[in-house]
Amino acid sequence: MTRQAIVAANWKMNGDSALVDAMVSGMADVELASNVDVVICPSSPYLSALSQKINSAKLNEAINVGSQNVNEHDSGAFTGEISTAMLKDLNINYVIVGHSERRSIYKETSTQVAKKVQAALNAGLTPILCIGESEAERATEQTETVLSAQLQPVIDEVGIEKFSGVVIAYEPVWAIGTGKTASSAMAQETHQFIRQFLAQQNELVAAKVPLLYGGSVNAANCEELFAQADIDGGLIGGASLKAEQFKVICSAAKGK
Ligand code: PEP
Repeated sequence: MTRQAIVAANWKMNGDSALVDAMVSGMADVELASNVDVVICPSSPYLSALSQKINSAKLNEAINVGSQNVNEHDSGAFTGEISTAMLKDLNINYVIVGHSERRSIYKETSTQVAKKVQAALNAGLTPILCIGESEAERATEQTETVLSAQLQPVIDEVGIEKFSGVVIAYEPVWAIGTGKTASSAMAQETHQFIRQFLAQQNELVAAKVPLLYGGSVNAANCEELFAQADIDGGLIGGASLKAEQFKVICSAAKGK
């Protein structure tokens, strides 16, 4: 079985129209292995322009646009929020759910994250479900407990079979935006734990789910990280704001 590799760009609250243009022209000659999808997630005001510009530039069809967030409700009085239907209307097909910044700053709980994953799947969007432990949790050997507690409510909400349509991004919180990357061995060990956790509930699904690593991935460390048996690509923050760096990272990914 081959497993899809994915490299996703999380621009967070950065970027502008000039970055949209630079990324579209920068990605024109990107070299991607087969079984690699690229997902660029700008801030919501740029979703539509990025999607249209990727189409009109006729970029590689493996290059997709994703949202950084979505609301779990279908529609209604939720000022400032984005619905799954709006994303579908803009031909967006991926959405990041449960990023650690949403969990810590906006107090999203794993129960709410589970509802967002369900809403995304119901709408035919592919959720990129983020999980990860804090530095204190790693130091006190709680990593596996924390990851299990973040995953299980989502499995309970959507059912393990539906995880064949989910991408998981393991992002140790202490490595996000800090320049501290987990060593490739540490990242692999944790990815293997996540795959085994899923396999206890459904082996076939576990073998299929792309597991991305996120946390200070850059053009210099991506190759070693992506070479690990259970790392199927990355969720990239800072290094995704420069087309030249991001392209190198995209080209390092291979389906397994
Ligand atoms: C992220 O925003 O998900 C992320 C991993 O950021 P960075 O690559 O900058 O650590």
